Amino acid sequence: MMGRREGEQGQFFYSFHLDKVVPPDHLVRQIDGLLDLDWVHKELAPYYSHTGRPSIDPVLMIRMLLIGYIFAIRSERRICAEIQVNLAYRWFCKLGVEDRIPDHSVFCRARNERFRESDALRRIFEGVVAMCIGAGLVGGEAFSIDASLIKADVNKTKRIPGDQPFSWPKAEEASHAVREYLVALDAARGQEDHGGDDGSGEGGRRRKPPKEVSLTDPQATWVARPGLDPFLAYDANYLIDNKAGVIIDAAGSRANRAVEIAVTQTMVERVERRFDLRPRTLAGDTAYGAVRLLKWLVDRNIAPHVPVWDKSARPDGTFSRADFVFDQGRNIYVCPGGAELTSTGNIDQGHIVYYRASKNDCSRCSLKPKCTTATVRKITRDLNEDVRDRVRALANTEAFEQSRRERKKVEMRFAHMKRILRLDRFRLRGLSGVRDEVLLTATAQNLRRLAKLLCRVPPSRATICPA
Ligand code: SF4
Repeated sequence: MMGRREGEQGQFFYSFHLDKVVPPDHLVRQIDGLLDLDWVHKELAPYYSHTGRPSIDPVLMIRMLLIGYIFAIRSERRICAEIQVNLAYRWFCKLGVEDRIPDHSVFCRARNERFRESDALRRIFEGVVAMCIGAGLVGGEAFSIDASLIKADVNKTKRIPGDQPFSWPKAEEASHAVREYLVALDAARGQEDHGGDDGSGEGGRRRKPPKEVSLTDPQATWVARPGLDPFLAYDANYLIDNKAGVIIDAAGSRANRAVEIAVTQTMVERVERRFDLRPRTLAGDTAYGAVRLLKWLVDRNIAPHVPVWDKSARPDGTFSRADFVFDQGRNIYVCPGGAELTSTGNIDQGHIVYYRASKNDCSRCSLKPKCTTATVRKITRDLNEDVRDRVRALANTEAFEQSRRERKKVEMRFAHMKRILRLDRFRLRGLSGVRDEVLLTATAQNLRRLAKLLCRVPPSRATICPA
């Protein structure tokens, strides 16, 4: 017989305990048992005034943000709405059923002021990494690096060519993203005047203006690749430990290769400083095969398991540099015809050395049609070519193969970021917003991973997770 609920909607008084309605194996319980935010009030106290109305509790805001990033809720307005109706989220945020949810507008100010000044989001991320290390999920022996392009939150039609002069609004009338761009531009000019880098803090030298500049978020990079509709983007950079795929460092950055290399150096140094971990190997794709990074790694006894970036091969079938033999002792190249190419002594761009054959040898050489159309053949050699040779030799080892296989873990982190956490487009504008989003996403991924690995054992046997 069909049942039917009858009568009044409910009783007059309820006995209700929020803790009892959240299932013991719910992800929020597992993560709550791992999370340590005890330091927040003490550390952030200097960034709050001692007078006036009390602000929203920063721990509540951090918990709300984490709910958003862990459960792929992609807007702060939506996070507030979900916490309003979801009891498990309320429980995680330590809110009672009748407590008011803060307005979404409080996050913007907290992020742009107190959280940024105190570096709170990085501290939370590093706290979670420290927990992963404590739980034995980090080997510290082999790391992998990669960067993934994420679309910027802009309308790409609102842009101008990078070399076109543009009158930007005054700072007080400009958006946060434009203000940040103008400050970075001033800093870059100052650096250039003193012969330094581009002032991005990421070591990239700006040799020419960008191709296109967004009027909404001018720090976003115009990405035009074959087969892809061009778009404006930033990079999410991840450094992972190969043992369990824990993200050991994360950074949002402008999207270009020089910046990716500078960010890699920053992350490797930061991990060593914070956690006293220096890997024996670092795996990466060809984008990380620039000699500057290879030498930097080799100098620190880190074996670069990276394909060497080498443009010396010639697609037209003529002899490439690999066909010439370098004689280290005499500092000469010997060509396929047996002639010697000697150094001109000139060093270009601070690291490129030229070697030339003699006019006499080339003019009577039968191999000349396969070698050069110029009067004499010239080849270049990097001052650190021996480093590249050492890295090339690593490519044939079993350890390199293993690193290449394990490097897939960093690609899987990015796939998880885009498909499960739905970060295929940044929500915040400006480089600082992008950095915040990358850090929060990496924190959420590590927390989910930590919960998965530690909390799948029965609760009675789990040492860290109390669920
Ligand atoms: S053209 Fe000159 S450099 Fe080339 S193979 Fe002949 S002698 Fe050697």
